[in-house]
Amino acid sequence: MIPRLKSILVQAIDGSVIVHRRALERMHLEDAEGSVAALLLLLREGTRTEEELVLAMSAQGFPVSKEDIAAAVAEFDSWGIVQRAGADESLEPAVRDRHQSNLRFYDIFADLHVSSADQHRAVESARVLLLGAGGLGSGILQSLVGLGVGRVTLVDFDVVETKNLARQFAYGLATIGQRKVEAAQNWAAAYSAGTAVDAVHQRVEDAAGIRELASGHDLVICAIDSPDDVQLLVNQACVELGIPYVAGGLAYSTLCYWSVEPGRSACRLCLELHRNDELRDAEWDIRTDPLFDRDTVNRATGPVVQVLSGLMAMEAMRFIRRIEPPVALACYHVLELADDMRSDRHRWERHPDCQLCADNRP
Ligand SMILES: [Zn+2]
Repeated sequence: MIPRLKSILVQAIDGSVIVHRRALERMHLEDAEGSVAALLLLLREGTRTEEELVLAMSAQGFPVSKEDIAAAVAEFDSWGIVQRAGADESLEPAVRDRHQSNLRFYDIFADLHVSSADQHRAVESARVLLLGAGGLGSGILQSLVGLGVGRVTLVDFDVVETKNLARQFAYGLATIGQRKVEAAQNWAAAYSAGTAVDAVHQRVEDAAGIRELASGHDLVICAIDSPDDVQLLVNQACVELGIPYVAGGLAYSTLCYWSVEPGRSACRLCLELHRNDELRDAEWDIRTDPLFDRDTVNRATGPVVQVLSGLMAMEAMRFIRRIEPPVALACYHVLELADDMRSDRHRWERHPDCQLCADNRP
């Protein structure tokens, strides 16, 4: 294995080395003799095994042992600044060319064990069920196709209407009146060959139907808001099948997304049970019949759904690549559009009375 320094900025000043690990994160290393700078320069070339690094360091007047080099490389790996050299070459040249930016993004998380090419292969072999081809769903689909997710089953019951053109950029004037799943499937095929999209023109109604759709997939993404209890239905189907899911939406002026991994995190029903506990002794009950409710207004503009679909697609990729942990596991990530883009997180724990979690322990 040949270690290589990632694409980072390194400075050498007055007997110390400054490693810019992130854009806003610098590490200062003592380097009176210049050996750290010499090793980093050799690692940047990414052409030497640890044995060859020992020889190259000695040739520069820094006698080091194989153990010294191994310890330094392991330390750099724990900081996330080295990866395996040459891993890209295991991919076809056309794949490397098409996915260049994706691979360089995966570099951030690559290490000496899992390469960016490994992460791409995981994406390429992933099977995702995407519920919804509206504002959120079509935006998420576009990201999945750009990333080269192998297979996407897309489920929706709507046809493309003129009002959708405010935010559903996979469609256009020529597709008005077409079934969304078919228009989206055609968009994906014309855009890039890497993703097979299965179009399912079907309304999502109950957990049994979702279970049938989700079977055989690695991940479910819920980008619909009807029926009213769709989040609990998706939760039930996914927990029963042991398939992780990502969900999200827009309520009032608040964007929100979260994810659940059965067997590892609390589920969405757990949250519902916690809420019931809180309401039991509350002065007023949020479930009381309203004097009047808000009108149903869809105020999801293009930028709004692009932000949320991007965040949800990124969370989906964490499940698929299995190297970067999901950030929204049993945790509401909230972005308040009307309040200075304030962001917040609300985590919830497993509820002791959640029968769904109890019945579906792995
Ligand atoms: Zn639960």
